[in-house]
Amino acid sequence: MSNIKRAIFIVIGIYGFCGGFGWMLVRTINRTLPSVRMLEDYTPRVTRVYDRKGELIHEFYEERRIVVPLERIPKLLIDATIMVEDKSFYRHCGVDLSGIMRATLANILNLRAIQGASTITQQLARNLFLTSHKSFLRKIKEALLATHIERVYSKDEILELYFNQIYYGNGYGVETASERYFGKHVEELTIPECAMLAGIPKSPVRYSPFSHPEVANKRKIFILNLMAENGIISVDELQEFKNTELILAKGSGFQELGAYFIEEVRKWVTSRFGPDLLYRGGISIYTTLDIELQQMAESSIEKGLPELESKYKIEEDTLQSALLAMNPKNGAILAEIGGRDFRESQFNRAVQARRQPGSAFKPFTWLAAFAAGSTAASIVNDDSISVELVTGDIYSPINYDHEFFGPVTLREGLAKSRNLVAVRLIMDVGPASVVGYARRMGITSSLDPVIALSLGSSSTTILDMVSAYATLASGGVRTTPYMIDKIIDKNGTLLYRHSDFRERVLSPELTYLVTSVMESVLNAGTGIRARMTGFTRSAAGKTGTTDDCADAWFIGFTPSLVCAVWIGFDRVQRIGRNATGAQVALPIWTDFMLQATEDEPFEKFKVPPGIVYREICKNCGKLASFLSKQVREEVFIRGTEPIDECTGHYLRTLRDKEEFRFP
Ligand SMILES: [Zn+2]
Repeated sequence: MSNIKRAIFIVIGIYGFCGGFGWMLVRTINRTLPSVRMLEDYTPRVTRVYDRKGELIHEFYEERRIVVPLERIPKLLIDATIMVEDKSFYRHCGVDLSGIMRATLANILNLRAIQGASTITQQLARNLFLTSHKSFLRKIKEALLATHIERVYSKDEILELYFNQIYYGNGYGVETASERYFGKHVEELTIPECAMLAGIPKSPVRYSPFSHPEVANKRKIFILNLMAENGIISVDELQEFKNTELILAKGSGFQELGAYFIEEVRKWVTSRFGPDLLYRGGISIYTTLDIELQQMAESSIEKGLPELESKYKIEEDTLQSALLAMNPKNGAILAEIGGRDFRESQFNRAVQARRQPGSAFKPFTWLAAFAAGSTAASIVNDDSISVELVTGDIYSPINYDHEFFGPVTLREGLAKSRNLVAVRLIMDVGPASVVGYARRMGITSSLDPVIALSLGSSSTTILDMVSAYATLASGGVRTTPYMIDKIIDKNGTLLYRHSDFRERVLSPELTYLVTSVMESVLNAGTGIRARMTGFTRSAAGKTGTTDDCADAWFIGFTPSLVCAVWIGFDRVQRIGRNATGAQVALPIWTDFMLQATEDEPFEKFKVPPGIVYREICKNCGKLASFLSKQVREEVFIRGTEPIDECTGHYLRTLRDKEEFRFP
């Protein structure tokens, strides 16, 4: 609709219903409106959530609402809510006309979608619809319904209906909210608790003290300030309550299979369609979760964490973890663990936590080096280096084992996670190039283009890392991670369908080269433990350990399944001595992958046509000759294979173990 038309309609609507013009229009709309008496009696429907094979995994519904009379709701909470949501509540007739005029004008001037604050009565009217659909007609309908409500009910009755129906993020109604957030009845709420609650309806997901404690606390202080300005509390009270730390109720979540995933689904559907459709709409949500894989993932974590706690003498139940498994071919999330116990903490470490990836970031540097013309057989010196930074400081990175290997091939450098090779490579290609490759592959977090980036100094999310590795697993095609396949409403109408996003971001040859080198991580490098414990499939991956062993990672993939495991504490601190990714995260990854791929057909990474093989000398990276002592078949992008032959070595000691051979 054009903006001029829109403006005309708004004007017709307003004057129509105030002065009699446009009476026909109003009457026509009126006939389609739901009855306001439905506010007193509502039959909820159950929304069902299914896994990728159609198995029922969760139900959302409005639990029996605990209705409290207005007398039991603290006066302070009522005053604060009116102050935040609808200042002229006692003066208007359901619609704040001056507010609408202002919003209309703003909309015409700014050429934006309909906006403007709704009155408490309008918000109540909105409850009579299932979706939080934003359209001009809907706005008119809500406004008309609001005036009906004002004719049928007194202001106090409206407030009572409002407080018993408004959505507070974890449920409907003020009594349910007080019980879930603070573990008490609404009449027992303290002043700061009232302030926090009054601030939630504006944006229940964002201001939830469970999922965003810091934001919720800031909002509470903001509301307290407003309360003091409006004389609802005194200045002394403001000072006293500003710093009061609120104690939240425990055990308010649900612990069931895939609790973190289901919470993400809840947040997504709520933010897109509104809570009413989810809790009252009786819709069917078809997700990407594989409940069998989820079960395996949870059992691997449940088994692994106590073992680690006893090994590193950590206080029980304090170590945290995240696991994310994805289908690299389409981005479907198959299993997701966001923490140890959803009832204890709803903070989702798989998607919300920002942690340093350590060496798990190295593949991006290798990729940038290969793209710039290096090969898996290129020799780089794993030896100490001092770099003067722009700050004037001297940067002297070391290896985890405090040893230097000297000249190594790039294959060996990544397989054994040599830091000095990573540092030399990023100095050679430039940090900006590494940032560019990480971005193309799916890293969305901000990355510092510095030398230390090569060792994983920029924090990122586990979700980002999984999607970047998935780009390798899929042969260089990037997809977007997703969790909902489709949503169908109670009448069988399709409300939403995921559309696949695929983009080729790396050539198949370059992708294969990095993947091949990452296979050596498992076959002959820091990830060899996976092979020794029976995981024999074609797979590639990388370990990650941050400074002082505060984060332990393993991210690895087969052609059809990519999985990341992260272990650490919520507060960045050392897990234990030698608590590396290989020691801590890899065993859990292996345990999960063994179960998850048990019945799957054996699959190899596809070799693209531009790949050639050459026998090379491992000591010099040149073509193998009769003088070479250690020979391997190496992978090259056609045109980059070596031409010169090895002329022999006398000084270098043999260090390599035999490579693992899988059947
Ligand atoms: Zn040689």
